[in-house]
Amino acid sequence: MNNLIWFGNDLRVNDNQSLSNAMQGDNVLAVYFFDPRYYTRDSFGFKKTERFRARFLIETVSELKVNLQTIHIPLLVFHDRPETVLPDLVNKYSIHQIFKQKEWTAEETSILNKVKSNLAPGVQIIESFDQFLFHPDDLPYPSFHSIPNVFTQFRKRCEKEAAVRPIVSKPSPLPKTNLVENQTKIPTLKDLGLDDFEIDPKSAFPFKGGENEALNRLQHYFWDTQKLAYYKKTRNGLVGTDYSSKFSPWLANGSISAKTIYWEVKKFEKEIKKNQDTYWLVFELIWRDYFKYVSLKHGNHIFKLGGILQKDYSWKSDEHHLKSWIEGTTSEPFVNANMKELRQTGWMSNRGRQNVASFWAKELKQDWRIGAAYFESMLLDYDVHSNWGNWMYNSGVGNDPRDRKFNIKRQADMYDSKGKFQNLWLQETLF
Ligand code: FAD
Repeated sequence: MNNLIWFGNDLRVNDNQSLSNAMQGDNVLAVYFFDPRYYTRDSFGFKKTERFRARFLIETVSELKVNLQTIHIPLLVFHDRPETVLPDLVNKYSIHQIFKQKEWTAEETSILNKVKSNLAPGVQIIESFDQFLFHPDDLPYPSFHSIPNVFTQFRKRCEKEAAVRPIVSKPSPLPKTNLVENQTKIPTLKDLGLDDFEIDPKSAFPFKGGENEALNRLQHYFWDTQKLAYYKKTRNGLVGTDYSSKFSPWLANGSISAKTIYWEVKKFEKEIKKNQDTYWLVFELIWRDYFKYVSLKHGNHIFKLGGILQKDYSWKSDEHHLKSWIEGTTSEPFVNANMKELRQTGWMSNRGRQNVASFWAKELKQDWRIGAAYFESMLLDYDVHSNWGNWMYNSGVGNDPRDRKFNIKRQADMYDSKGKFQNLWLQETLF
């Protein structure tokens, strides 16, 4: 049996269901696509993927290629559309089965359907849900449609009735073969139409992409510094690398799994300390799962103006407001500092994201989807479900039962009382 693993947002060799399934075959080949559609402009005029995430992805795929080599799997990398390349690959290498992580959002489904219609009959595509903490088959709900619209209800029931599955172990190496001559190259930023850049020395996320880097971060945050034991107390911070775990960019492209983090928390709780802080990291991972289930339940409504609540609010779309929000020149210094940080680094804290989103959607009453699309472009950790789900939540069209609006000045006083964060991003550079 000749198997192919088509990597997407599951760029790891540890705890990877599709890889483990593919390894049951006699020959295994892997492929990743830098699909040009993700490097064009979206309907609001933003580049779908800006340089921060693109470089992180290039680093991730480079590391994956090396890690796959250790188990004798060649990774072919194309800067092309899957539906153009995959059918030829399948013919050339007589592939019987294609394994991939299951996705369900509109763009990913459309690409898969195009691939399916170009493939020779008989080639099987086997998809696995592999991005969750709680596997969909283990949820205490009969179907996605009965998942509650209030997070707390979902969390409490899952905590009581669902179990996190064990890690899928790293596959042992296949016998070495030279069947595939891999002449494919990983594209550069320039190939993707993006400019190279230096990491801003002030960045709260100065890390590289890749599975090894993700595991190093886990080692640092849990074991070397034991910052996990203080996570709940520091997670609303704004300055520096260690106020929160910073796992999100690796989680978003799947170079680490949520299950890996969960089981490491359990180990930490057993060996070092179990407290509210260690629990809270799992609590946040359940939020991540929740937004994935919200998107499974509501489909394309998460991208629509009325959101999942199908609210008929009146929204504005003002070029002047957009420019000042993006450039960080609004009337609110706290918003400005956060927006400058995002623009210069591709990173923003959770506290910052909530405030700038609330300011955009609830203060300025601007079309929330423009804000979400800008985040999609810029964020190092862009994840379709978390981004659009959180944006709906903060714009009053999603899962916030209290429909809160942030008092930005009060937030700045509470979380940046000495102005350290605002000074960091707003001070004039004289030279
Ligand atoms: P930690 O505080 O260390 O949390 C650990 C993990 O829990 C995170 O890595 C993340 O996977 C998960 N998590 C934490 N908070 C949330 C949350 N509110 N929603 C979902 N998962 C959460 N997160 C993304 O991963 N991608 C996005 O595109 C994204 N867009 C957002 C847009 C808005 C408007 C807002 C308000 C939040 C968004 N978030 C997004 C959620 C959250 O801000 C980030 O996950 C978090 O700041 C990442 O930092 P961390 O890894 O240090 O988080």
